[in-house]
Amino acid sequence: MSEVIVGVDLGGTNVKTAIVSRDKKILAKDSRPTNAEEGPEAVMDVMEQAIRELTASSGLTLSNVLAAGFGAPGPMNWQTGIVYSPPNLPGWKNVPLADAMKKRLGVPCYVDNDANVACYGEYWLGAGQGTESMAVLTLGTGVGGGVVVFGQLLRGIDGTAAELGHLKVQRDGRLCGCGSRGCLEAYASVTGMVRTAVEGLEAGKESSLRAACAGDWDALTGKMISDAAAQGDSFAQWVFKETATWLGLGIASIVNYQNPEKIVLCGGMIAAGEMLFQPVRETVRANAFEVPVNRCQIVAAGLGADSGVIGCAGCALARYESEH
Ligand SMILES: [Zn+2]
Repeated sequence: MSEVIVGVDLGGTNVKTAIVSRDKKILAKDSRPTNAEEGPEAVMDVMEQAIRELTASSGLTLSNVLAAGFGAPGPMNWQTGIVYSPPNLPGWKNVPLADAMKKRLGVPCYVDNDANVACYGEYWLGAGQGTESMAVLTLGTGVGGGVVVFGQLLRGIDGTAAELGHLKVQRDGRLCGCGSRGCLEAYASVTGMVRTAVEGLEAGKESSLRAACAGDWDALTGKMISDAAAQGDSFAQWVFKETATWLGLGIASIVNYQNPEKIVLCGGMIAAGEMLFQPVRETVRANAFEVPVNRCQIVAAGLGADSGVIGCAGCALARYESEH
């Protein structure tokens, strides 16, 4: 009997599902709206239906499923599978996600936080394949972090480790979503990049972005900044370099602390290519020790937007195997 693992990446907007074979082949993939506003039971209905449909369309039944892994936004307890109260999942409060899905599907279910599964996906099947020590930074609205050491996720004693987005890069710096100041996330996320641009525009810097958002700074997006930079707008290019420099400072600390073989960057911002990577690498080289800098490759994600969903399956398999 063929044995497969199901991965489900539960986001505030979309639920992504994948079926992966034990020998790491992606057999099927699916993405559908989360319907988050309808609350936890409705969201679990969406996930259950996606899994049932995807297994059936692959010629499989749930009896072929060895385990299912769910990547959810934190805060959560990865060991009990309880999701506390993620800001982008309205109505969720202490939802026993692993137990509830196990009841629905009759297969072992595991829950991990979304940044950790993205990291594990890149380690298992993406740009980090073949390494023993690596870290992932996902650059989006925030900066998510994950760390693999000795081939395992670094979880910490309470399961809260690897919050790389909240490394401090500035004393008394920008206010971060976590309530603290000067976190990497406040500068190197897409939101942080937009904030850097708005600060410059408010200070009177000339740029095509000024006309593009017609004085309404809320209309400014990361995509507009990277497009303007690619078209030669020197202010937009400066914003990108500034963002990359903050990111490089954070990565320099990771390189010094962890001595990883690779640091993998995920998220829409990496589409900017060398415009992002070159100043990141320069900053890391200028701020970290030579031996770990020479060791560490800073690379783009290998699985694109699928790091999370593939990682959900990989994580579930690793946890299932450690229990059986
Ligand atoms: Zn923070």
